[in-house]
Amino acid sequence: MLKQGFHELNTERMQKGLEPFANPRNATAGLIRQLDSKEAAGKPLDARFYDVLHMEGSLPECHVEVLEQFERWGLKTDTFNAECSSLQQIEERYDALVDQREKLAYEVDGLVIKVAHLQLRESLGVRQRSPRWALAWKFPPRQEVSRITDIVVQVGRTGKLTPVALLEPVDVGGVTISRASLHNEDEIHRKDVRVGDTVKVARAGDVIPEVQSRVAAPEDHREGAFKMPSTCPACGGEVSREGAYHVCRNGLSCPPQLIGRIVHYASREALDIRGLSEQTSRQLVEKGLVRNLADLYRLTKDNLASLEGFAHKSAMQLHEAIHQSRKPSLDRFVYSLGIPHVGKHAAQVLADYFPSMERLSCARQDELRSVPGIGDEIATSVEGFFRDEQNRSILRELLGAGISIQEPPVQKQDRPLRGKTFVFTGSLERHTRSEVEQAVERLGGRTSSSVSSNTDFVVVGENPGRKLDEAKEQGVRIIEEAELESMLK
Ligand SMILES: [Zn+2]
Repeated sequence: MLKQGFHELNTERMQKGLEPFANPRNATAGLIRQLDSKEAAGKPLDARFYDVLHMEGSLPECHVEVLEQFERWGLKTDTFNAECSSLQQIEERYDALVDQREKLAYEVDGLVIKVAHLQLRESLGVRQRSPRWALAWKFPPRQEVSRITDIVVQVGRTGKLTPVALLEPVDVGGVTISRASLHNEDEIHRKDVRVGDTVKVARAGDVIPEVQSRVAAPEDHREGAFKMPSTCPACGGEVSREGAYHVCRNGLSCPPQLIGRIVHYASREALDIRGLSEQTSRQLVEKGLVRNLADLYRLTKDNLASLEGFAHKSAMQLHEAIHQSRKPSLDRFVYSLGIPHVGKHAAQVLADYFPSMERLSCARQDELRSVPGIGDEIATSVEGFFRDEQNRSILRELLGAGISIQEPPVQKQDRPLRGKTFVFTGSLERHTRSEVEQAVERLGGRTSSSVSSNTDFVVVGENPGRKLDEAKEQGVRIIEEAELESMLK
């Protein structure tokens, strides 16, 4: 998104009374997540192309040739791409870019140095998600001076309270900053910043702006030191301290935390409710349509059609998607509850061990701890979660709202994919990704999003991504949809 387009978009939003986007990156992400692609189509978005993930036949030898080919196809590439053959040339390139940075039409936070020779890239390989043949060189953060007009406290999705400085608007490298994070109370005291102080504000790339330090000023009169509130600004609930942070203890009675739980509940690896985005969840909570997770199942088509940005069709689709989520497998349901420290894998281990939700929710800590793969932290967390009256009532309400958990269809001993890990790449012809993932999990297998030494099978569909190359590099067995189907029979 060009800077110009970003400013116009924000001006338009503010005129409509909407919250402006913090930076072009957030604005872009927000726009392309829109349910209705027509919404995004009219917006000032642009694209630069820089890589080929998969190609039939052989690639050219050099990255530069790839870029030239893009140009011939009419795909835009970055005008600042340059071939360098020494460290000194790279340094010169960096310095030149730092100088031109403010004049560019779009935001940049640094440059990427890549090996141009594609065969060399292949032999250098990839470690986790970072290739060994590319390196980011970030620009120094930009700083400006402004004055703190107030310090407010925001409540996050986990209940964490974050103090935020409200600033006299200041232009930092082309973006107007009027708020900046202060992280936590200790940080504020360490930097000794107070309301009324003049401070240095920094913005590095797309990172949230932060107050870096106080600019020493004549010490005539300063406001008192900042104190975190003892009650949650979002719900009035009790606040307690956890390490350096203050946390609201009101759980799902606290709107931002309820929104966070809905988003998790609906996420792809949990109950996979398509169309229930963060924005939609927020609207549902703010309009009072959803006060707990079970309320999701009481939403009518009219309720959904009344949401901003929802056409009749998308409301029908979301209603259907919510309805479809009523029959989760036990492990997905356990994961979807958002029990602290219980990720996808732990949820699966627990679902393997305990035959029903009922048994799991009554399990004592020592029993939980005896489950292979479950440590103290998870055991304590699980017991604590189900002992909490609020959580128990959510569970009752969900079951009362028609959730029917599908207990594992086969006994533990005949779960043929037990201990096997699957990674998927590309789109399958006859099944959706989450269908096959659930099928693999029902038979005791695991699914993962990245190829590692623990991967047993990489399932390849149409237009596979880099994972296919990684599988080849690491010698992981590659299978196609038909073979997967025969394993799932
Ligand atoms: Zn709260």
